[in-house]
Amino acid sequence: MRKAVGDGKGKAPRAAAARGRAGRPRKSGPADPAPASSAKAKLEKLGIRREFDLVLHLPLRYEDETRLTAIAEAREGAPVQVEGTVIDSKIAYRPRRQLVCSIEDDSGLLYMRFLNFYGSQAKALAPGARVRAFGEVRPGFFGAEMVHPRYRIVREDAPLPEALTPVYPTTAGLPQASLRRMIATALAQCELDETLPADIPPRFGMPAFRDAIDALHRPRPGDDARELTGRTHPAWRRMKLDELLAQQLSMRLHYRERKSKTAPALGQAGALTADLLRRLPFRLTRAQARAWAEIERDLGEVHPMHRLLQGDVGSGKTVVAALAALRAVENGMQAAVMAPTEILAEQHYRKFSEWLAPMGVQLTWLSGGQKKKERDAAAADIATGATRVAVGTHALFQEGIVFNSLGLAIVDEQHRFGVEQRLALRAKGSGRRGASGSEPHQMMMSATPIPRTLSMSYYADLDVSLIDELPPGRTPVVTKLIAAERRDEVLARVSAACREGRQAYWVCPLIEDLSLEPDAGPGKARTRGRGGGRGKADALQLQNVIDTHARLAAEFAQLSVGLVHGRLAPQDKAAVMADFAAGRVQLLVATTVIEVGVDVPNASLMIIEHAERFGLAQLHQLRGRVGRGAADSVCILLYQKPLGELARARLKAVYESTDGFEIARQDLSLRGPGEYLGVRQSGAPMLRFADIERDLDLLEAARELALQLLQHHPQQAQRHLARWMAGKSELMKA
Ligand code: ADP
Ligand code: MG
Repeated sequence: MRKAVGDGKGKAPRAAAARGRAGRPRKSGPADPAPASSAKAKLEKLGIRREFDLVLHLPLRYEDETRLTAIAEAREGAPVQVEGTVIDSKIAYRPRRQLVCSIEDDSGLLYMRFLNFYGSQAKALAPGARVRAFGEVRPGFFGAEMVHPRYRIVREDAPLPEALTPVYPTTAGLPQASLRRMIATALAQCELDETLPADIPPRFGMPAFRDAIDALHRPRPGDDARELTGRTHPAWRRMKLDELLAQQLSMRLHYRERKSKTAPALGQAGALTADLLRRLPFRLTRAQARAWAEIERDLGEVHPMHRLLQGDVGSGKTVVAALAALRAVENGMQAAVMAPTEILAEQHYRKFSEWLAPMGVQLTWLSGGQKKKERDAAAADIATGATRVAVGTHALFQEGIVFNSLGLAIVDEQHRFGVEQRLALRAKGSGRRGASGSEPHQMMMSATPIPRTLSMSYYADLDVSLIDELPPGRTPVVTKLIAAERRDEVLARVSAACREGRQAYWVCPLIEDLSLEPDAGPGKARTRGRGGGRGKADALQLQNVIDTHARLAAEFAQLSVGLVHGRLAPQDKAAVMADFAAGRVQLLVATTVIEVGVDVPNASLMIIEHAERFGLAQLHQLRGRVGRGAADSVCILLYQKPLGELARARLKAVYESTDGFEIARQDLSLRGPGEYLGVRQSGAPMLRFADIERDLDLLEAARELALQLLQHHPQQAQRHLARWMAGKSELMKA
């Protein structure tokens, strides 16, 4: 019994054969023998879970079977339909076993060739049979031929279809014909009523829902295949608008739901924030002041803030976070500051200590790398409320850490955290003393700018503050592209910079293990160790950075060369970073552990080895580690030739721009939202039809429409959501 189940699952050869056939849709193939349960699994693979999903399963393209082409007129390059009588049909064995069948019409002769075929097919294609075949004609082994055409045995004068034939996206073992049948049934059975107010679609020059669905699944005679396939047809635009509208509605509802929850109001402006502002060695930039004002206002509300503080690397987000934390403290609540890496968390701890400790605010450090005794002590202080501000890694939000009265949670580099962590954070509630059901305010920070299209779509549930200027006195980092064979020049630059009392970073690349995804960018590092596949790449990477360090230490005997990588014990990491921050280490050889947030203003030179292997956002982040002081800074991208097309595009983008937004925009267009959003994608349903860049006008329209619908037609809004999002919006609650 057990064995039988196992066999059922592991039908590899059969599945492979099925895949071979499924590539060529055909009508008269043998019936698919797969049982119903496996058909369900296949539909699920296509994202089809309910009957209505079949209605929304739209054609990939269309084939024109409304016309017949004379065999002699058929040209290469475009599929045609021909009709002829079988002259000869035989199984040939050279060059391999295949069914070869010749058909003839008044104009000429054509071969049909099948590499996979059933005996029943060979029989049906007997001489004298009349065949209608659809495919591309090519010069072949035997003469002009169609390989694996879709064909049908017909009677003489069988009528031609009057409209285009839709071709659906499908999966192995699910023939077009079955899918078409299922879709036709769904179209007949499902309610296709309008969810928009009747005047809306015509305003956009679009058909009603039912008409749009009909136009796409059942093209009318005379419809043009290219226009329908190109997704610019009004019916297509209607589908995209509907999809975007559903996304907007769901984001909007989520936003409202948050606004109906309670959070502790942190509205009292006390002495602490004023004191910090007075004692800072600089004035807030206008952008910082504006962001702080927005946050300040939100914190005073009795509903949880979910605000994203965005600002390019070096724009000064940390001080705004410190002000927000102090505001919680002034109001008798605790604040927590969480960063994705030990190095970054440690740096925040130092910075916050420098700013807050003189005011008598008790800070507590908590991380996974701590000894149990220290961690227990930290946890105890957090629980009693002795701790006013806790700083650490995600260990802060693990089970067993109970806050006394958490008023504000600050998450730095939020894009590096997954949805699960955001949920864990919310589950902390506002602690023992907070009202039950009350949530802490959340402030997220990110230096990975979110292009406007994304913040209008996938991030529409968050409020966003933007720091769009850098503190004064910064000179932009000069970026240089240097081929690896000119490494000596780079060494000379490092020497010169260090002689002048400056410091430099030397970043070693990710080692790509071919068994992994090609672009193991930030965020993916999170899954490290789970699958085990990362192990080898990690070991290689470690060896590489150790070797590079040894080599550079030998080449720069007169300099102090430090080494930092992810495998160092946390206290060793911290020690090296402290040495670098204090200037005791002049050249720091590092892996991407320094990618986020590290702030050592005296460092003015950044060397990135094998820059072609890094992601665009990563390069920009790394470059942001320099140019933080008054000195002119340089970032050198060392690359290995030959460059692939994508690598070239990435290097060109960083070379040409230092503007994080422009880089993010390019990154988005090079990678697409799925890749770009990284971990967040598990929390936001991806769009199937609309493209937020190309369909920006529809995205804007959908945003307006969502507000209008929620206000004036809430029931239709619900109906629309149910139609497009059934089962999916749960994922978005994070
Ligand atoms: P990021 O936004 O990348 O986190 P940081 O908060 O680390 O940037 O700030 C970068 C550097 O700029 C820090 O050394 C910080 O002290 C300094 N800084 C922040 N705000 C100002 C300001 N208004 N004027 C001058 N320097 C500032
Ligand atoms: Mg930062």
